[in-house]
Amino acid sequence: MSGFPDCSTTDCANPALHFDGECRWCSKWFCGRHKENVQTHPCFDGHRPERIFGGPRPNLDSLVEKYLEKLDIELIIAEVELLRPGHACTINKPSSWSELQKLVGGCNYHIVIVFDDGRRWVMRVRKIGMSYQHLDALRLNLDSEFATVSFMSEQCILIPKVWARPATSRLPTDLLYFYQEFVPGVSAFEVLLWVNPITDPTIKLIRSYAEYTLHLEKITFDRVGSLHTRPDGMISVGPLIDRRPPFLQPPHFHGPFDTAKQRYLAIIDLRLEQTLRGERYPPSLELLHYLILLDLRTYLNDHCPELEEGPWYIKHNDENGNHVMMEKDGTINGVIDWEWTYITCKAEAFAAPSCMLGALIDRDPNILSSRETALMEAYRALDRTDLAEYVKNGRKYHHLHRYLFEGVVYPKGLTGMRRAFLDIPEEQDNEPKTIKEWIRDGIKRHGDKQAVKDLVARRPDSKLIRAFNQPDGSVHKDSKKRKLKTDGSLVAASRC
Ligand SMILES: [Zn+2]
Ligand SMILES: [Zn+2]
Repeated sequence: MSGFPDCSTTDCANPALHFDGECRWCSKWFCGRHKENVQTHPCFDGHRPERIFGGPRPNLDSLVEKYLEKLDIELIIAEVELLRPGHACTINKPSSWSELQKLVGGCNYHIVIVFDDGRRWVMRVRKIGMSYQHLDALRLNLDSEFATVSFMSEQCILIPKVWARPATSRLPTDLLYFYQEFVPGVSAFEVLLWVNPITDPTIKLIRSYAEYTLHLEKITFDRVGSLHTRPDGMISVGPLIDRRPPFLQPPHFHGPFDTAKQRYLAIIDLRLEQTLRGERYPPSLELLHYLILLDLRTYLNDHCPELEEGPWYIKHNDENGNHVMMEKDGTINGVIDWEWTYITCKAEAFAAPSCMLGALIDRDPNILSSRETALMEAYRALDRTDLAEYVKNGRKYHHLHRYLFEGVVYPKGLTGMRRAFLDIPEEQDNEPKTIKEWIRDGIKRHGDKQAVKDLVARRPDSKLIRAFNQPDGSVHKDSKKRKLKTDGSLVAASRC
């Protein structure tokens, strides 16, 4: 059992596709042979059941009920009071999905613990069923987050303290969790993303953020990957914990790596191999993604010397704005949600957090947002023009991340990514305007490779076009369920 769904087609034992394996209409999972086959998947021909976007998924209630059963409040109180001797605590156990959902993040449930002196902790519990990965992989994922926060809270301001599950815990062993100081305040999400023009609290928030990153800058690492606790209790850089494990079987994750370039090339090369084996993308998307991955390989090899320049720095990997808790005047109270944090080169680590881009990247991919400009000004005011330069030149990392880990593909994004990596300032007249044109140009660049020839032969062009002419438009899942009117050329698939 890999924890990842198998194809739902009767008598098919293949795992589902790594990317876009789940149909957004019927919610069934498919392998490459059966997803785009009308016989096995009627949705592919337009026969789609009605689906309500944004609501809880049908199986969610039962999933939550399972968690509620595991949350033995008496046992939790006993072990928390052991971790903080001399203080009694109380916990209000959520009794239903509607009560719990106030405390639900994308990949975790949170139970608030209140001590007799008013201090609060949260019990951060990983969701299991929703993440589609093996329990061992999820355990590594949780252990890495714990090691990261534990290490960073000792070294840096604004990061909450954490406590591991006690060795004597009697809670179910498949309940994956740790305890963390509660960080009060409101999320920076709204201030950063939706308030225009920039207000004083936003400016204050961005200045505070710049000062906080100066503390991060003092902490360097000797390798690239994610933090883990070694058997001797020391914390060091180990395998890279991705949102989705790259391997369905142990060891689930790869790395650590000597350089950030090695890290990215390992991810890209694995995806190229999976694509050729028909395991990664639906058939109609294979050639497109193969060409994008080949382009990325060239960009990283020929245009990113900084990816080989250590020492290495920490990068938060869920910078959606909800990770910064603040007072309404912009004072930062803490930075949370360190799941999937990785170590990388300085240029990537100090590019602006993605929440400072807002929706601008969809429209004008390479124009600096007013928030990025404010961050550059904040660094200059701190006499750190070097860090301001990382912000100015950071867009290639936003594109790289959006493509590799959020699965976002659209013509402007692809041409924007190309210009960002090749340092081309302006839009070019001869740039492809559609995915079809983009594939045509990609074949010109890479058509001499046998693998590309094989993929072209595998899917005739008419099928490729069909894939980008779906009449419904797509849902950009990482934009807080905004439904984008697209020309049928936006493809997004992201799951933690
Ligand atoms: Zn379907
Ligand atoms: Zn199948």
